[in-house]
Amino acid sequence: MGLFRLLIWIAIIFAAIWVWRRFFGATRRRQAPPPAETTAPMVRCAHCGVHTPQQHAIQLAQRWYCSQAHLEQGPKPGAH
Ligand SMILES: [Zn+2]
Repeated sequence: MGLFRLLIWIAIIFAAIWVWRRFFGATRRRQAPPPAETTAPMVRCAHCGVHTPQQHAIQLAQRWYCSQAHLEQGPKPGAH
C-alpha cells in the first residue's frame, strides 16, 4: 500500500507542475503586450507649431497654444 500512495503523490506532483506551467504560460502570454504608455498626449501650438504636452498647453476655441503669449497672438496666419 505504501508504494501505491507514493505513485499517487508522484501523479499529484506532476499534475501540479503541469498546472503551474500552464498558469505561468498564460500569464506570460497575457503580459506580452507592453503596458500602456503614460506619456501625455501632444498638441500642436496654433501659433508657432511647437508640439507641447496637452497638460501644459492652453486651449482656446478648439486650438492649442504652447504659452499664454502665443494664445494672445492667436493662430499664425497662413500656417500650413
Ligand atoms: Zn507657440
